[in-house]
Parts: sequence; C-alpha cells; structure tokens
Amino acid sequence: MNWRNFRKSGNVEDRRGGGAARAGGLGIGGIIIALIASAVFGVNPAQVLGFLGGTSPRVSSNGGAALNDRDKQFVESVLGKTEDVWNGIFKASGATYQPAKLVLFAGQDQSACGAADAAMGPFYCPADQTIYIDTAFFQELRGTSNSDFAQAYVLAHEVGHHVQNLLGISDKVQAQRARSDKVTSNALSVRVELQADCFAGIWGNATAKDRNANITEKEIRSALETAAEIGDDVLQRQAGRVANPHTFTHGSAAQRQQWFVKGLQSGSPADCDTFKARI
Ligand SMILES: [Zn+2]
Repeated sequence: MNWRNFRKSGNVEDRRGGGAARAGGLGIGGIIIALIASAVFGVNPAQVLGFLGGTSPRVSSNGGAALNDRDKQFVESVLGKTEDVWNGIFKASGATYQPAKLVLFAGQDQSACGAADAAMGPFYCPADQTIYIDTAFFQELRGTSNSDFAQAYVLAHEVGHHVQNLLGISDKVQAQRARSDKVTSNALSVRVELQADCFAGIWGNATAKDRNANITEKEIRSALETAAEIGDDVLQRQAGRVANPHTFTHGSAAQRQQWFVKGLQSGSPADCDTFKARI
C-alpha cells in the first residue's frame, strides 16, 4: 500500500516528546449528523442531537517535539485517507464528517476517558473524540504482520468507532448496556466491535479503488490475519483459557474477519448493521 501518496491529516497530535494536554472538543454539525444517522442507520435523530449537545473541554497544545518519522507520517497519512473516505460517504448523504483527533503517545498519557497506557493497545475515546495510539503498538504489530494495510486496518477500526459516535450508535448502545446483564452487555459490545470492523472494511473498499494506493491481494490477506489474531477466542486461548463466547467483547476471529470482509466487499455502510444481523 502506497500510503505515502495519501493526503496527510492535520488532526494528529504528537505527544511522544512529553507535554500532556487534552485534545478534543466537539465540532458541531449536529443536525446534519442526525440526518445521516437516521438515513443510513435508522437511528433516532433526537438521540443524536441529545448526544451532541454535550461538550468537552478544549485545550490546544502542540504536544512535545514533533518527531518526523515513519510512524507519525503513517498515522497522518492513513488518518487523512479515512477522513477523505468518510467525508465522501457523509457528503453523499448530504452530511458533513467531523474528523477525529489522533494522539500519538509513548508509554502513558491521559485521555478524557481516563489513563492511556501502552498495554491497552490503540483505543478511541468518545468523550474527546480522539484515537490514542502508543508507538510501541506499531513495533508489536510489525512482529506479526509486515503489511502496512494490516496496520491501517487497526487504525480504520478505531475511526470506525468515531463514526459510530458521530452517528449516535455508541451512545444508544451504551445506554442499552447500562440496563443489561453481563452476558447481554458483552453481546452488545461484540456487535459494536464487529461494526467497527465492517466500517474499517468500508475504508478498505474505497482505498482499494484508489489506484495510487496500490493495495495488493497479499496485503488484504494479511489484514484478515490481523483481524483473526485479535479475535476474542484466539486471545482467550493464548491466555491459557477455554474460549467462552459469553465473555467475548470483540467477537471471534471468524466473526471479525467476516465483518471486515463484508465492509470490504460492499463499500456501503448500510451493510454494516451488526445490530440487526444474526451473528
Ligand atoms: Zn474496537
């Protein structure tokens, strides 16, 4: 994948050199987002607007020293591509995509969702609409997969959570989970995660159509392997336990692959309704 050809996002904050400040704050295109949520996902627009009514503190920071290296350029490029793709999809529904921020950190950092730690792996914090990635993650992933597309899939999955947030899906599911028992709550979490995988596939579909991106078959296979490696059943077995679907929060390897492929083949977010689907 020729990610160096992608437009670089201006929404990456490099905090590896120290200087912990909070990124975030909601850019409001509320009514528009509510409309796309209702059009694409059948989400109640009032719910979306209710969610967007809240704001979070906005403090600007340049972070630490800007390290101009491969990992930073990679996240800027891939994030830029996700912005272009989701911009296009939102625009097609007459909406405006509000991009997520991305914080690159080393070791530990603070998010509006609590402490960010390298051991947690990449995550998305809805409260500050920011993706947190520790640089060690790329080294770790390079150990299992040399494919840039596979690394980009993980980033696109986190962006998928941001899209869920914009569409009001995260908020709706969060409310449902709060009312549910543990097994139901875990099952809902699996559907959220599989949808983020499907959204990552949507990104993959659009990016694969870009000839300059030059994504190969081999890279797609590698991304599928990555999806499988982070399946709950595989992780539980690796931890020496018997895989127990009731405790899954992300889905099995097979499910994660299946939904990533679904998005990849379809290219249409409407096909990513993991809440209605039998999984
Ligand atoms: Zn996730």
